[in-house]
Amino acid sequence: MSIASKPTENIHAEGCTISGLHKSYGDVEVLKGIDLDVEPGQVVCLIGPSGSGKSTLLRCVNLLEQPNAGTITVAGFDATDPDVELNSLRRHVGMVFQAFNLFPHLTVLENCTISQRRVLHRGKAEAETIAVDRLTKVGLADLADRYPDQLSGGQQQRVAIARALAMDPNLMLFDEPTSALDPETVGDVLQVMRRLAEAGMTMVVVTHEMEFARQVADRVVFMDGGVVVEEGPAKDVIGNPQHERTKHFLSRVL
Ligand code: ADP
Ligand code: MG
Repeated sequence: MSIASKPTENIHAEGCTISGLHKSYGDVEVLKGIDLDVEPGQVVCLIGPSGSGKSTLLRCVNLLEQPNAGTITVAGFDATDPDVELNSLRRHVGMVFQAFNLFPHLTVLENCTISQRRVLHRGKAEAETIAVDRLTKVGLADLADRYPDQLSGGQQQRVAIARALAMDPNLMLFDEPTSALDPETVGDVLQVMRRLAEAGMTMVVVTHEMEFARQVADRVVFMDGGVVVEEGPAKDVIGNPQHERTKHFLSRVL
């Protein structure tokens, strides 16, 4: 795979501050007071067992879920302000899911232009130029005319990253972006994410890829049962965990 060496020279990274975040579904409290500060350009890897609330946390940042209490400031927006405009906030926050959610009836290029045109009101030529640039950065410009089902899972996920980058986000959220992939395509996706991190993007990444977290994360946050149990540099949290729950989790995934 060839990737342009400077993936995203147009990045304008912004941070995110979460404090006292609570989220319940019915009587079940899933997030029990989360505090998390992500500086512009920082890469935070979020780890923890299934059901610990990692996806819910990301979804609250992007307002796919409405928190019950607490504040989230993201890219300069008060996301918990009831008057915040969803579309203007989401323009600034790119999200990449485990299931890539590409539009199956659109080509790779069209997948990367549709939101630019509809949400940012860019003209066709400009949107296509930007799409090709972002596809080049994920190493896929030569597949621009293909349809998603003609691509491997890893290629589809790289298209999903290019599609998000075409919107010029200030922060990127990744929710287990490699969990659904064949093992042989995981490396290319992680390489794209590594380049993006090196280019200065603010990233919050839910992942079970401990090697990626070790190499790329500025900070690792371990969640369990809706709380942050432990956080710090990867070498501490992964290399020398202090809490029993972190040790137990790591003993199962490492
Ligand atoms: P993780 O991503 O760490 O696996 P999630 O954030 O997906 O955890 O889920 C945390 C808990 O919230 C789980 O117990 C899950 O069943 C519950 N949950 C998540 N989404 C919903 C929902 N829409 N309605 C009810 N419960 C939910
Ligand atoms: Mg999840």
